[in-house]
This record gives sequence, structure tokens and C-alpha cells, in this order.
Amino acid sequence: MWNQPAAGRSRAFGAQNLGPSATRSDTGNRYTGAMALRICFIASEVAPLAKTGGLADVSGALAKYLHAAGHDIRLFMPLYAQIDRSTLEVWPVEFLQNVPLQLGSHALRFDVHTARLPGASTMVYLIDCPQLYARGSLYTNDVDEHLRFIALTHAALLACQRMGFAPHILHCNDWHTALAPLLLRTVFAWDSLFAETRSLLTLHNLGYQGSFSSDLAADTGLGPATGQLDAGERYAGRINPLREGILHADHISTVSPTYAQEIQTAEHGWGLDGVLRQRAGHLTGLLNGVDYEDWDPRHDRHLPRHYNANQLGIKAELKQLLQQRVGLEALAQRPLIGVVSRLTLQKGFELLFDTLPQLLQERDASLVVLGSGDARYEDFFAALAQLWPQRVAFQRGYNEELSHWIEAGSDIFLMPSLYEPCGLNQMYSLRYGTVPVVRRTGGLADSVQQFDADTRSGTGVVFNDFDGGGVAWGLNTALDLYQHKALWRRLVQNGMAQDFSWRKQVGAYERLYQHLLQGPRT
Ligand code: ADP
Repeated sequence: MWNQPAAGRSRAFGAQNLGPSATRSDTGNRYTGAMALRICFIASEVAPLAKTGGLADVSGALAKYLHAAGHDIRLFMPLYAQIDRSTLEVWPVEFLQNVPLQLGSHALRFDVHTARLPGASTMVYLIDCPQLYARGSLYTNDVDEHLRFIALTHAALLACQRMGFAPHILHCNDWHTALAPLLLRTVFAWDSLFAETRSLLTLHNLGYQGSFSSDLAADTGLGPATGQLDAGERYAGRINPLREGILHADHISTVSPTYAQEIQTAEHGWGLDGVLRQRAGHLTGLLNGVDYEDWDPRHDRHLPRHYNANQLGIKAELKQLLQQRVGLEALAQRPLIGVVSRLTLQKGFELLFDTLPQLLQERDASLVVLGSGDARYEDFFAALAQLWPQRVAFQRGYNEELSHWIEAGSDIFLMPSLYEPCGLNQMYSLRYGTVPVVRRTGGLADSVQQFDADTRSGTGVVFNDFDGGGVAWGLNTALDLYQHKALWRRLVQNGMAQDFSWRKQVGAYERLYQHLLQGPRT
């Protein structure tokens, strides 16, 4: 069944198909320029339906703004058990029910439902396969983790076939859907529906590659094309979906220009720097945008009060409310440092193990941390909160509303990342007048400029070295600046004047798509 016939396609035409339809005759339409594009976008998480990090924010926002720009974007994601269906109106797609999918020895069946993405007019296609997606969390360490997302990828392409949707662009994201370009070139190559399709793989985080044992190669559903999987990885007993995506996508993008450079070095390449250098001519860094409909203190739906750059008194009130909410001593003059993050090695919190206890001894500052992850970081923040109950609050877990409160109510936002493909919170912080203290890496380097007190230019504090001295310098510099009210106000207002909107950034993706369509397949 590796060469899935497009059974039911003829039935598909004219059947329920919410959204503009493309039919087989459209494949003859070679893309000629500024026309609406058909985009098949596949992602393992999409905000606000299912989110663990920035990938969800980017998928949701990019789909929304591409749709608003007039493109026909079909967004595919799993129907996780975690998706709150109580407020979601979901329709079954009539001709995409009980679809068989054989991957190795796994005889799967899936349904496709469609719904309007909350907060947008884009339709999202939800792949319903409880056997794969009804688990305790979005991602697991289960033995079939690879299968869950290979199935998503196949299902999206099969759905395109049954809908007669001929995408100009197949846009896949991270390891989960990175087999899509190879599938397009092999299993789906027979279908002229995809004759003009160009594939784009966006790397949101190279640290996660989804490798699995080569004993499970049949699960890729590549059939006779299994031999095209990278020989070096197979020799090592692995299949690495991300490497396959990098090798076979027509183009690769990543989420900031600096990260696009960094991943070509051994230090940040996670073993894929060689193949990335090999494909450097087809690699572009595009900074993520911010969805200011969700993240703007002038109308943030999670905040009890709203403010702009001339209403910083209201921000101060929100700080007090935040301090009360998380159980900190409510002192207006005491600078409050905020953290909202996955607590993993990537985020650099081990730099705080020595630095923060000392800083709390020496300086009058307080800290609020929201996040969960590795026990060593959770334990560290929990212990700190126990030691300094009035000045340190640690909220373990994921809390959308509180993350907005922390952006609004903190004075300083800390991101000491070891590496950061783009990072969104520093850009949110800028809009909320919360001064980012960041390490100069990836998207942090591209979105925060060191403040210069002489010229009064710059938007935050940027430290270079990934060590305790670096982060201590960053925090002390920010705390010193905080004492100079006029300078601080200027720094805050510089940040609030920045514009990282998706409305702007979406144009960069449109230009990249157009560039791909005008060139040959690579
Ligand atoms: P990453 O994708 O590496 O986690 P990003 O900065 O790109 O980092 O995106 C993180 C997103 O996840 C932001 O929207 C951030 O607010 C959100 N987030 C992270 N941890 C939490 C949490 N514990 N509670 C709420 N939101 C969180």
C-alpha cells in the first residue's frame, strides 16, 4: 500500500470541501507571479489549538496571515485528545473518513475533520486517529513516536489527493513532518497533482531531530524508495527525519538570519551542520513575527487593564497585581524579573545556579518564573522560592493567561539561552515595555539591540558569553539602568516602538514561495 491510490477522489469533487477548492486542471497553472497560492502547511502543533512552544505560535499566525493575504492555505495537524472541542465547531470532511493508511506493519485508519482556527478565518484540517493522538501529552517517548508524525505527513498528502488540492507549496515544519519532501519525490511522484509543487522545510529547532531505529524503516511508508534514506544514518542504525528533510526539500528556511548561520557550524549544527553547509544555497533565515492581535498590551484579552507607551502607570499597576497573584511582596520600586519558558538545557538556566542566589543577596530585585521541564531547573527555582518567599515565585506548569501577565507586569524579561532559533518572548517583552536581557544568539541577536546610554538607542541588554559572568553582567546592567528613571523610560519606549508584526513578516514568506516557484525543483 505504499503507493496509495487516490481512491475516492472522483467522489471528492463537489463533496463537502470548506474553503476554496483547487481541481486537477489547476496543476496546469504554472505559477506566474503575484497570484493567490495554494499552500499545504503541515505542523505538529498549531496555536491556539495545541501548543507547547513557538512552533505553534508560528504555525497559527503564519496560516492566519497568509490566508488574510488571499492565499488558499490548508493547514494540517493531529486531532490531539488535548484539543478543547467544547468551543470548536468541527465538521467531518465527507470523503475523508475511515481512510486506510498502511505504514509498515501498522494498518491505520484516519478521519479528517475541519474547523475554523479560533481567532482566524483559516480552516484547519484535523487528522483524527485516536490510536496515535489520544495520549497523555502532545509529544511522548512512546516507541511509536515516529509513526505518529509520519502518519500525519502521509495523511496530509492523501487528503490533498482526495480533495484534488494541488499545492504550489508544501510547507513542512521540524522533524515531525520533514519526510514530506522525500514522500513527494517518491511515493507521491506518480501523481501529476503535485507536478508543480515545491517543498519548503522550516527548521524551528535543530535540537530535535526525531531519529528512530532503522529497523523501523518500513514505518516510513516509503516502500521501494526506502533505499533513498540517507545511507550514513542507516549505517549508524538510525533514520533521521530532519536530515531527510534537509536533503530533499527544495528549500530550507529557519526562523532567524543569525540561526541560519549558526546551524552551519559544528557548535550549533547538532551533527547536521555538514548537510546544511552542503545546502547553504537553499537555506534562508526569516525572523518570526508576532501576532499583535494576541500579544499587545493595548488590547490583550488576558489582562485586566490595558496600556500604551504613554500609560506606563497602568503597567505599574499590573506589576502590583502580578506580585499579589503570585504571592510576592508588592513593592512598586523593586524591579521584577520575569521568566516564561520551557525549562530545558537550551534555555540556559544553569547559568543562574550560582549567579541568581548571589544577585538576590546583593541587589533588591524579585523574580517570577513560569515554566516546566527538567527536574534540575524546576528544583532550583522551587528551592529559590522557598529561600526567598517574598522575592521569588515559581509557578510550575503551563499557563497561557499567566504568561501574558508576566509579560505585562515584569520590568525585565530574562532569556539566557544557550541557543535560540528565534525566540518569541523577547519580542513580546519589547511590545509590553518589559526590557529583555538576552544572550547574543540566534533570533535574540536579531531582535534585541544593546541599549546605549549616550545615544539613548537600543532596546535591551545583550550579553555575549554563555557563562555566569555574562548573565550577571546582563542582569546587573539592567538593574543599574532601572535606577535611572529617565533612561529606563527611554529604553522601555524604544522597545515598545518596535514592530515585528506578522503582517510584515508574512511578505518575506510570500517572496520566498514565489522565488521557489519561479525556479526549478532542486
Ligand atoms: P520555544 O519554542 O523554544 O519554547 P519560543 O520563545 O519560540 O520558545 O516560544 C515559546 C512560546 O511558548 C511563547 O509563546 C511562550 O509564551 C510560551 N510558553 C513557554 N512556556 C510556557 C508556559 N509555561 N506557560 C505558558 N506559555 C509558555
